[in-house]
Amino acid sequence: MGKDYQIGAFFATLPHLFCCLFPFLLQLHAYREDSHSGLVHHLGKVATGQLVRGFKSLILRKNSMKKNPKVRLLISASQDIKNYILFRKYSWTKLLDMFLPTKLHYILNKDYSKKEAENEVSKYVKERFKTEKRKITQDTESIKKGWELAENKYFDLVNIIFKNHPWPKGKYIGYASVFNMYPRNVQDKIFYFPGLHTSSRLGVQTISHEMLHFMFFDYLKTKYGISEDDEFEGKNPKYVWNISETFNLVIEAWKPYQKILKTKSEPYDPVHKRMFPRMKKLWDEKNDIDYLLSHYF
Ligand SMILES: [Zn+2]
Repeated sequence: MGKDYQIGAFFATLPHLFCCLFPFLLQLHAYREDSHSGLVHHLGKVATGQLVRGFKSLILRKNSMKKNPKVRLLISASQDIKNYILFRKYSWTKLLDMFLPTKLHYILNKDYSKKEAENEVSKYVKERFKTEKRKITQDTESIKKGWELAENKYFDLVNIIFKNHPWPKGKYIGYASVFNMYPRNVQDKIFYFPGLHTSSRLGVQTISHEMLHFMFFDYLKTKYGISEDDEFEGKNPKYVWNISETFNLVIEAWKPYQKILKTKSEPYDPVHKRMFPRMKKLWDEKNDIDYLLSHYF
């Protein structure tokens, strides 16, 4: 019990990091819905896309020109219930333990079937969204305001980091969550943010962090043909993900970024901690993403 509480408390201070723990679990299969956003985006750059030709591709090209995405923050109990269902599906007990508020840990008991557990969670989520409606709404509103204040400068900086690479097409929707981890879907550009127990600054940092991932993976895919789940010989299966996470840390530790986001980031995963100094050095040498990536791929 005490241990669980400690873990919870630790994460409560670093909610913007939750997302990063195991995002690959939830992507692709998870929130795919009917979207084909990744495909649409890539059509903008290719002549190989057989689906779109001529003027249609011109439209796509035009639409994908440097236009900053509009991030929407929404409050939806049913989306958060879906969050749990998918998390449970692609996760394992230890992680689920961290994801769930302590109050819900009883559902991990073997006596509860998957369906029963789902019902309990569903009840809990609906109840929280109802009783905490005011707080969730207020928090979401203040995160929105905070993001609006930061977004122009943020986008300008991302522009510099990624050399004017266009933002990939996608939904760019953040959903408020009452859970303790905030996964994302790289494909659709959907993410979760802390709907409770947080300052707006952490919410804004979560958005910025996720947006960096979205941009990073699209850059990697478009320029290098590398996907998040690609594996490399002799490397950890999570190699690409680890690079992305460490890259975020490097950028979050970069003065111009810190100035805008007022963030201070520390590696929380031993792997990233090990990767961090070298990558930071590479970034500081030239502030050039391709130079940096050339040392990893
Ligand atoms: Zn992350």
